[in-house]
Amino acid sequence: MARFEGKVALVTGAGSGIGKAISLAFANEGSRVVVADVDLTTGEETAHAITKIGAEAIFVKADVGKGEQVKAMVRKAVAAYGHLDCACNNAGIAGAMARVADCTEENWDRTIGINLKGVWLCMKYEILQMLNQGHGVIVNTSSAAGLVGLQGWSPYVASKHGVIGLTRSAALEYAQANIRVNAVCPSIIKTGMAECFTGGDQRVEAYILGQQALRRMGTPEEVAAAVVWLCSEEASFVTGHALAVDGGLLAH
Ligand code: NAD
Repeated sequence: MARFEGKVALVTGAGSGIGKAISLAFANEGSRVVVADVDLTTGEETAHAITKIGAEAIFVKADVGKGEQVKAMVRKAVAAYGHLDCACNNAGIAGAMARVADCTEENWDRTIGINLKGVWLCMKYEILQMLNQGHGVIVNTSSAAGLVGLQGWSPYVASKHGVIGLTRSAALEYAQANIRVNAVCPSIIKTGMAECFTGGDQRVEAYILGQQALRRMGTPEEVAAAVVWLCSEEASFVTGHALAVDGGLLAH
């Protein structure tokens, strides 16, 4: 029997990149998937890709930075499938590149609003459902930039450090309620967002790749495999952990 047979997984930012790979990985393991994204076109494409492999999915349009939309997203997931076993709070943006003293309030508020407040809002409504049903697993997408600083990306770095703090606090608060909460911390992964970080400049890309011990970008599927493992029974004694999926970047 597939590892996630009978389970329901919710993935935000599921329209592209890492979120799409997580959604497909769950579907391949037998889970029904609630595909959530602010982008209707790409979100529907992911849901369609899942049904094409013979698994079940629904698309829910939601902006994770908006409380009412996140509340409705969880309500729709439960209305469709009856419960919520796994939730992957993965939606995020790079924000605009700026050093601390040059960062605008707008850039700060937008980046924190989606990457940090968005994860908090998702956890809030997912946990309320998980408390009701008596179990659940959450994996938040942080970043290697949640564990170390990165010049020029302070709102992003602050948001991703915040995600790890939220993850650890929630893990402590809800461990006794049978809810595990972990984070993944990818380094550079081959998605649209990687181009935000390199700016499409080959020299910047070569510099970033030179910092990875494995000297390459990770793939969305490599992150998805870690996320699915953290959600699985094989990780039943793992909570409050920030797992680097970073090609050895942080081993230096
Ligand atoms: P991506 O741009 O391919 O995917 C991000 C997805 O999130 C998109 O589908 C987008 O529509 C969605 N999204 C954006 N804002 C949203 C909102 N307000 N509400 C709902 N959905 C929204 O990028 P990705 O690389 O797949 O990023 C996924 C996660 O991985 C992000 O949290 C990102 O910070 C993190 N991450 C990425 C890298 C990398 O190098 N690609 C490294 C570390 C961490």
